[in-house]
Amino acid sequence: MAHRNPAVEDEVARFMRGLIRRNEGETQFHQAVHEVVESLMPFVLEHRPYREARILERLTEPDRVLIFRVCWEDDAHNVRINRAWRVQFNNCIGPYKGGLRFHPSVNLSILKFLGFEQVFKNSLTGLPMGGGKGGSNFNPKGKSDREVERFCQSLMIELHRHIGEDTDVPAGDIGVGAREISVLFGQYLRLANRYAGILTGKGLNFGGSLVRTEATGYGCVYFCENMLNHAGDGIEGKSVAISGSGNVAIYAAQKSITLGARVVTLSDSSGFIHIPGGLDHDLLEFIRELKEERRGRIAEMADRFDHVSFHKGQRPWGVPVDVALPCATENEISGEDAQTLVNNSVRAVCEGANMPTDWDGMRAFLDAGILYGPAKAANAGGVAVSGLEQSQNALRLSWSAHEVDSRLQTIMHDIHETCLRHGSENGGVNYVKGANIGGFLKIADAMLAYGIV
Ligand code: NDP
Repeated sequence: MAHRNPAVEDEVARFMRGLIRRNEGETQFHQAVHEVVESLMPFVLEHRPYREARILERLTEPDRVLIFRVCWEDDAHNVRINRAWRVQFNNCIGPYKGGLRFHPSVNLSILKFLGFEQVFKNSLTGLPMGGGKGGSNFNPKGKSDREVERFCQSLMIELHRHIGEDTDVPAGDIGVGAREISVLFGQYLRLANRYAGILTGKGLNFGGSLVRTEATGYGCVYFCENMLNHAGDGIEGKSVAISGSGNVAIYAAQKSITLGARVVTLSDSSGFIHIPGGLDHDLLEFIRELKEERRGRIAEMADRFDHVSFHKGQRPWGVPVDVALPCATENEISGEDAQTLVNNSVRAVCEGANMPTDWDGMRAFLDAGILYGPAKAANAGGVAVSGLEQSQNALRLSWSAHEVDSRLQTIMHDIHETCLRHGSENGGVNYVKGANIGGFLKIADAMLAYGIV
């Protein structure tokens, strides 16, 4: 980030002009690529084989994009139509792997940004997984279980042709949890008449892995602990602001509390709750049940508990804390939010969500020299345990929670080491650069080896 070399900056600008021209209006995809190209360009310019083989240009063009219609009938017998996508981004180091997102905001730009990030993230885990992402603009909020079921079954009628344990293995993401994965898997069995690990995040009775539900949140906290330990510190006793109250946020909070931190915020799309004394495990379980099982709003916490306040329409970044874990969605930390966190002496920011920090926010963190763990490193624990689920399915056995958790801790530690190897500079660590170069090398070398394809 700190190269400020005019020749490199010109090259980044030239590259981005071409990318924007080829992918008009896809702003989230532009943002994700820009962040990667900023840190990779000096490296690529110094390494002629990557430059001459135009690896960056090839890596930013998905292998293929599938777009299809999903028709279903709602409870009032109206015909409903949604659009779905699967972006198979790059499979040069393993089958495509990445989640499905159901949210009204889903579009091709968001799925291409997520698929592109996934390529680097999956490479960083050290497991043989390529990158992909998919989803639909279907909004599960307010739908009955039967409506969600009919939608998922209809979606799988098309998707099943394009996935497979050696081809493409989707998982969950925003709006796609245990309920949706179960129905999707059941429909695959009916359509394909074969039992195979073609999705991850499955129920424990039908091929799921212990610790998969917890993996992204736990992994994010393990990565944060690695960053703090490297700086001679630790998460114990720290105050922590977390955004979101979904899968990633809940388990990031649980692990933070277990390791002795004080979790003072959680949020949803309507606002955030502040608990100055910190959450305990019982209160966290209440929130999990409220959000996951009753599909309620987090505002309800303030009505029920005197020591909890609700801040409508606001994000939690104004609360002074030692550690921030954004775990909700993209671009939820603006430049101004980041500067507020820095001014309030935040020590570490570790991204559980994908691209939660916008461009100005990222620059504010890097310029301030705080410990900043970007998503592709910090939230790789989820896909890593998905990879372990695939291994268990292939072996036809199940590992214990202890076994999976210790493998997860080792993977997060190794990703941290990779970031140190490629990101150490000026007496500190630029984790953005470290993660981008570390993720890039394995893929780029495979692409070079395959020739011009
Ligand atoms: P969930 O659907 O379980 O939870 C999402 C949470 O974020 C909810 O609290 C939701 O609030 C909130 N949220 C969603 N959109 C917005 C918005 N526009 N503004 C404010 N809050 C919002 O999703 P996950 O926990 O699975 O995913 C969260 C993030 O982590 C995403 O960026 C995802 O890509 C990333 N991620 C997830 C992985 C996984 O294993 N699940 C793996 C790696 C990354 P509400 O309830 O009001 O909708």
